[in-house]
Amino acid sequence: MIILKQGGGEIISGASMNDVPNILWLEEIRKEDIASVGGKGASLGEMASIGLPVPPAFVVTAQAFRRFLVETGLDQKIFKVSENIDVENNAVLEKAADTIKALVVKAKMPAAIKEDIRASYKKMAQKDLIVAVRSSATAEDLPDASFAGQQETYLNIKGETALLAAVQNCWASLYGARAIYYRAKQGFEEHTVNIAVVVQQLVHSEKAGVMFTSHPISGEPLTIIEGSWGLGEAVVSGSVSPDHYVFDQRTESIVEVNLANKKVEIIPDGSHGTKLVPVDPARQDARVLPDEELSKLAMYGKIAENHYGVPQDVEWGIIAGTIYILQSRPITTIGKKEAKGMSGQGKEAKILLKGQGAAPGTASGKVVIIRDVKDTGAVKDGDILVTRMTNPDMVPAMRKVAAIVTDEGGMTCHAAIVSRELGTPAVVGTKTGTQQLKNGQVVTVDGEMGLVYEGAISSAAPAKAGAAPAAALGSAPIITATSVKVNVSIPEAAARAAATGADGVGLLRIEHLILGLNKTPGWFIANHKEEDFVKELYDGIKIVLDAFPGKTVWVRTLDAPTDEFRNMQGGESEPHEHNPMLGWRGIRRDLQSFDQFRLQVEAFKRLWKAGYENLGVMFPMVSHPDQFIRAKEMMAGWGVDVENVTLGIMIEIPASAIMIEDFLQAGIKFASFGTNDLIQYTIAIDRNNENVADMYNPQHPAVLALIHAAIQKCREYNVECSICGQAGSDPKMAVWLVEHGITSISANIDAIAKIREAVAKTEKRIILEAARNRDAQ
Ligand code: PEP
Ligand code: MG
Repeated sequence: MIILKQGGGEIISGASMNDVPNILWLEEIRKEDIASVGGKGASLGEMASIGLPVPPAFVVTAQAFRRFLVETGLDQKIFKVSENIDVENNAVLEKAADTIKALVVKAKMPAAIKEDIRASYKKMAQKDLIVAVRSSATAEDLPDASFAGQQETYLNIKGETALLAAVQNCWASLYGARAIYYRAKQGFEEHTVNIAVVVQQLVHSEKAGVMFTSHPISGEPLTIIEGSWGLGEAVVSGSVSPDHYVFDQRTESIVEVNLANKKVEIIPDGSHGTKLVPVDPARQDARVLPDEELSKLAMYGKIAENHYGVPQDVEWGIIAGTIYILQSRPITTIGKKEAKGMSGQGKEAKILLKGQGAAPGTASGKVVIIRDVKDTGAVKDGDILVTRMTNPDMVPAMRKVAAIVTDEGGMTCHAAIVSRELGTPAVVGTKTGTQQLKNGQVVTVDGEMGLVYEGAISSAAPAKAGAAPAAALGSAPIITATSVKVNVSIPEAAARAAATGADGVGLLRIEHLILGLNKTPGWFIANHKEEDFVKELYDGIKIVLDAFPGKTVWVRTLDAPTDEFRNMQGGESEPHEHNPMLGWRGIRRDLQSFDQFRLQVEAFKRLWKAGYENLGVMFPMVSHPDQFIRAKEMMAGWGVDVENVTLGIMIEIPASAIMIEDFLQAGIKFASFGTNDLIQYTIAIDRNNENVADMYNPQHPAVLALIHAAIQKCREYNVECSICGQAGSDPKMAVWLVEHGITSISANIDAIAKIREAVAKTEKRIILEAARNRDAQ
């Protein structure tokens, strides 16, 4: 049960209350103003400041909202209602939310604020300009800040009265049941949450679409632009097949033009909302963007990418020949267009299922239940894949879907690992997802909170907005003494992984390179396809090595439990094991399956020979130094100069943590904690069993004791000690690890920014404390 904390003190001091006006114009805003104008306001201001053509806008600041609360006396009333709510009790939560929202909407807006809004609206342009009014959450340190406020948006607002009402409605949206629940779960003080409101000229685009400033998968400087008629929502929501253009930034030329038959468009409807209408036949096949507009758009894309330092996912619109840039955010979450038919603005959604939030982001779509891998043909782009548990052979289907929901599993199961890399929101361990949900039912998946809602919940792409790390707002890179590396399992994630600026790859799981082909390693050997096996490994690993030039990439030898092989060709020859987690996997299997090990080593040898000296090899599931010594001997026998390549081990069995000194003496060059396994083997909690998922405790004292002792020994021997298990993606754990002397941390792609920040803060604190202690002496 989670109880809302009682607030204490207000976030905005008297001084800042007086300093920040009720209104800030876009031109006055910089990224540092996020506390006053929210993430959306700050990002618009930042875009305008670098010369991107952003539609005119002003922001009703968070301070205006706070003044409204204080002057109307609402602050006290709200806290009375919200004190000690049991947010797990839906009925109680909904009632409290409704009460607070009604209080906010009905309160009389102070005259000064009203006047400021009116005057700004008048100043904006001609009389009765049509504007969009959007809430802009200021809780920028939330992983998905958009959920702190519900990102309410009111389009087509015309006239002062409607505008004032829309602003007040945006304020009220801060108190939606979902938002309150989210804040309570995140431990936010209700006293400190704020909301700003962006009022922006509505661009009734004649044509609009999206642009990826670099190729979303390969990262090549190819700008991809998709456009269609009417408002951009049609392209973003997937309601229409848009024209597709590719612009090569190297040669500054258009290299691809693919025209689509654009059957429908979204246009404004009356004074509120929008509607989907057929496109007249003459325009259906006509080209949306002429060369000149294409080149100009690509140029804006380049400006945005150069400014933010990472490829951007940009929304644009054109009206009467004028291009407007409507949004720009990092490309890390692309490929997950919002599912069709997002609607239901402002309504409180019903929670259908709870599980573990395994891969962040939100997405809506139609449920497709897969009971057998043979049925994955039914999966269409943008669906929500619901299954008992995913397997490597389901990865092709996982690539297509907007979100994934499983009955089983925890944060380190197959579905969780692959979804995070694909950037696809996922909720695992719902227990009853495949029974409760129905094929074709529309749901919304919140992969951060582990919730599945009924229906398509409208949002201004919350997953994407929330996923924007601090870097998206143009902050300077953070340098840390502790290396912050990234985990990769599928080569197509390499470009996204590299775009995080990580210091290398601390874990490349190669089983995904092979198992995606739907054949077991044994099948390749039995069918004399050894060369195919080596080539597949070579090519996949090379993609990752190429994405990290000059940085170390630790490639782990095969480690898949036998049950993951079952559905594949060759799976029939796999042994049936009662407990595959404790079975024939990792180094134990390789040491007995010479050919399987030899072929992996052959791929490594070829890569070393091709000059990839940054490749290190990591052995999984070692429990005794003899295994490391034997593996080294075998590699030497196959012609590897073992003393001059980087060979290390994973510490994922308590035995290897306890015997770490023997491993160090045997000559390991590095060690990395595989906490996913180390935890399950230390406290006897199956990592994939949702029934005991709440007992799976990465911070169990016994686990921490093993880690601490092993780190100390590695430091004594001056050997790099790292972590590549999921626990390394938790900022709290990262703080603890840095405090205890770890040399590097390898995290998931989506966690790099927050881990880097946690590491940097901890390092600075340690230095500061040391300096203070010295001064005090
Ligand atoms: C681990 O055990 O922490 C690990 C990284 O390996 P895997 O999740 O592949 O077992
Ligand atoms: Mg492991």
